[in-house]
Amino acid sequence: TEACLAAISASGRLNAFVHETPDMARAMAAEADRRIAAGEALPMTGIPVGIKDVFCVKGVPSQAASRILSGFRPEYESTVTQNLWNAGAVMLGKLNQDEFAMGSTNETSCYGRAVNPWKGTDGTELTPGGSSGGSAAAVAADLCLGATGTDTGGSIRQPAAFTGTVGLRPTYGRVSRWGVIAYASSLDQAGPMTKSVRDAAIMLGAMASVDPQDSTSADIPVPDYEALLTGDIRGKKIGIPREYRVDGMPDEIDALWRKGAEMLRDAGAEIVDISLPHTKYALPAYYVIAPAEASSNLARYDGVRYGHRARLGQGDGITEMYEKTRAEGFGPEVRRRIIIGTYVLSAGFYDAYYNRARKVRSLIKGDFDAAFGAGVDAILAPTTPSAAFPLGAMDAADPVQMYLQDVFTVTLNLAGLPGIAVPVGQDGQGLPLGLQLIGRPFEEGDLLNQALVLE
Ligand code: GLN
Repeated sequence: TEACLAAISASGRLNAFVHETPDMARAMAAEADRRIAAGEALPMTGIPVGIKDVFCVKGVPSQAASRILSGFRPEYESTVTQNLWNAGAVMLGKLNQDEFAMGSTNETSCYGRAVNPWKGTDGTELTPGGSSGGSAAAVAADLCLGATGTDTGGSIRQPAAFTGTVGLRPTYGRVSRWGVIAYASSLDQAGPMTKSVRDAAIMLGAMASVDPQDSTSADIPVPDYEALLTGDIRGKKIGIPREYRVDGMPDEIDALWRKGAEMLRDAGAEIVDISLPHTKYALPAYYVIAPAEASSNLARYDGVRYGHRARLGQGDGITEMYEKTRAEGFGPEVRRRIIIGTYVLSAGFYDAYYNRARKVRSLIKGDFDAAFGAGVDAILAPTTPSAAFPLGAMDAADPVQMYLQDVFTVTLNLAGLPGIAVPVGQDGQGLPLGLQLIGRPFEEGDLLNQALVLE
């Protein structure tokens, strides 16, 4: 804990931690020492972790990197963080992210951009990815031993790929959403971001639980994931989806994908070509459904109940108070999503957009069900279309350029499936490149075991 606190103090350049909690950390570490001495150590006793800002931690600023939540200190604790503290983990502080987890570069944060500890060969500063960019940067730079992330459309896996770390997005329902500030509730899921597959197994075991406070949390026992890590994947069938071979895919990503398939084959898995025919509709469906749900979830920020309230002028009434507060509190990307979301949900366009996207979502889920029904145990695909790119590269781009970053990650969120991103190789500049494995629902143990072979 002391080593992490010192590393955090020296890490200003990365802007990974946005709020440090050294007093809490030291008190929790002292309690961990006591437990270890008493022979009462639990799986994460004394392990210092960072928490993405989107998780409510009682008494600690929890803003989802939004100005609209400035000054908000929750009265309650998210189930995930409570589970981590119950398992003995030590709280180091809150981590940077995109505002309300909307973004792929950590550049929409009210705290400013987080920076990737990796640099380009000419010293160029790179994005750590997003939205869990602070979590990924902190783990990669050894500021903590693990971090929480959330993955609505790739926000755990893409930053893991950009920083050479491991990121696991669990099955929808595996981990409670209680106390996690909502983005798109039917897609959001929290998961671990770690240095190794084994750490991800241990941390997922600590985070997961059935929770009466989240009606979508699944009443399925949480296995001992670490005990399932045998590395034996003989006879497992791994699917290679042909639709993920997109136009213009860089050769190095293609080569990495082939290398990953060989590693799994060498370990005794059977590699089969599969088709997920509706893949190309996933991104447009996601960018209708996610903003629709976001526009509804964000309606609660009205200047009355939480955080920021605009200064009012003479004669301003409640409508002006809402308008001014929301205009000042939300950043441009969040406002864009609210506008898209309210548009696709409006009476005149609901059927053409939102309802159609929901139908596409069922077709995408059907593709995965068919693959798993035909005996495929997991699906191997690239995590991202490129390695980490320079900070600011998206500034001048049309927002759709940023949305295209999510082409390989959003599919499984729409289907509610688990996925793990593992660093497998490097690009020409020596920057990390990752692959992801997509698994059957609630078979995270299997997925972790297969990921061990790729590590
Ligand atoms: N980049 C995607 C988005 O902006 C994914 C975000 C996420 O998973 N939270 O919606």
